[in-house]
Amino acid sequence: MSNKVILVVLDGLAYETAQQCMGFLQGLAEQGRATLYKVQCELPSMSRPLYEAILTGVAPVDSGIVHNHIIRNSNQQSVFSLARQAGLTTAAAAYHWFSELYNRSPYDAVRDRFTHDPEQLIQHGIFYHQDNYPDSHLYLDAEWLRVQHDPDFLLVHPMNIDDAGHRAGLDSAHYRNTTRHSDTHLSTHLQQWIKQGYQVLVTADHGMNVDKSHGGTLAEERDVPLFVIGEGFSHDPTAQPTQLELCGTVCQLLGLKDHAKPVATSLLSGGTQIEHLDNGSAGA
Ligand SMILES: [Zn+2]
Repeated sequence: MSNKVILVVLDGLAYETAQQCMGFLQGLAEQGRATLYKVQCELPSMSRPLYEAILTGVAPVDSGIVHNHIIRNSNQQSVFSLARQAGLTTAAAAYHWFSELYNRSPYDAVRDRFTHDPEQLIQHGIFYHQDNYPDSHLYLDAEWLRVQHDPDFLLVHPMNIDDAGHRAGLDSAHYRNTTRHSDTHLSTHLQQWIKQGYQVLVTADHGMNVDKSHGGTLAEERDVPLFVIGEGFSHDPTAQPTQLELCGTVCQLLGLKDHAKPVATSLLSGGTQIEHLDNGSAGA
């Protein structure tokens, strides 16, 4: 089993839309190769606070990243910092807010858009700063990083679903079709990732409402999907992972020790739960 992890965060994808429109991922689930969970996002249901929540396991009220316009580095341990401390390789194809949280802040497109710097927490990055940057290109950016740099941890973060929701709302053909398109792009690359044994998580930061926004407590704003793919997972349908457990769960899959982050233990296979704690012994 590979200890390498790919985390896909589909910005702004509500649970129900994922359930109905992600045909390829649901096909994997039907064949027993993926499991879909419903996860409730932290509050406020906004992007930058929840990027931090997913990557650090710390709620916005505690991290201080409480809205989208707090432009500074994270002051928490994250998947990126913990992976780097263990000597692992990190990469991200993501919105520039990730560069601001974990690399340099504020974002300078000329300096930061293409990042290849072993001293940064995200060592290999391709960052974008327009919400309509095509998901098709974003997935190719991610795949280029994966093939070129063979990262232990790769973050993949497309924005078009959220952008469609802001333009047309939750209950719209545009939002649903953008989700279907993202599923199709993802299917092209997922086949390869599965073949190579990656542990893959596909989730969202928050959902979307019919007012073309998000931020509050409506089910459609808070309920997000979590698809898991790979031998590192238990695929136990009764598991109830939380958003704040994603960070620790990824750390566990990466074989990191002493990360002190909450873990969704029931989400993990026996090997990932225990043997990785003994420094990733073989056969896990
Ligand atoms: Zn949004």
